[in-house]
Order: sequence, then structure tokens, then C-alpha cells
Amino acid sequence: MRKASVKPVRLGWLVERRLNLWVWCEGCSHHKVVPTEPLHEKFGNATIYEVKHKFRCAQCGGREIFLRPDWHGAGWTRGVVSKHDKLPE
Ligand SMILES: [Zn+2]
Repeated sequence: MRKASVKPVRLGWLVERRLNLWVWCEGCSHHKVVPTEPLHEKFGNATIYEVKHKFRCAQCGGREIFLRPDWHGAGWTRGVVSKHDKLPE
């Protein structure tokens, strides 16, 4: 099943809301939070799906990167975390 109504999150949208990006490596579970503004300056109003190809894991060099807005760091409630949310063990 596919949901056609899901809109990809864009960098401009994140900057407006002062949300950073939470970056997760699928390969080794290395993760960190990166500021969105420099990415927005560099890549424009790209979606996070476009930007994730620019990332590479600093720890294992893997390219299986998962991105999502850093809701928790920004103090957003858990209620807005999407089904794509994935928390470290
Ligand atoms: Zn890794």
C-alpha cells in the first residue's frame, strides 16, 4: 500500500521551525544531530530524501543513512513523531 498524500520534509520547512536533522546510520547505528541551516544554504530547499544521499557515516563509511527532523531536541512533543520515527536502542 502506498500513501500518495505524504509530503517529503524540506530543508526550508525545517529551518523555519528551527528544527535540526537527526542523522542515523543503518549500518552501525552511529547517529548525531546536524544543524539544518548550513545544509539549506548549500542545497537549497531540497527534501531530506534528496539530501540524505550527501551523507556518509563518519564511523563506518556506510551510506545507508536515515534522516528525520530532530523533534525531541527541539522540544516537540512525542505526539508529532511520524511513523518513520526510529529511536536508538
Ligand atoms: Zn555507520
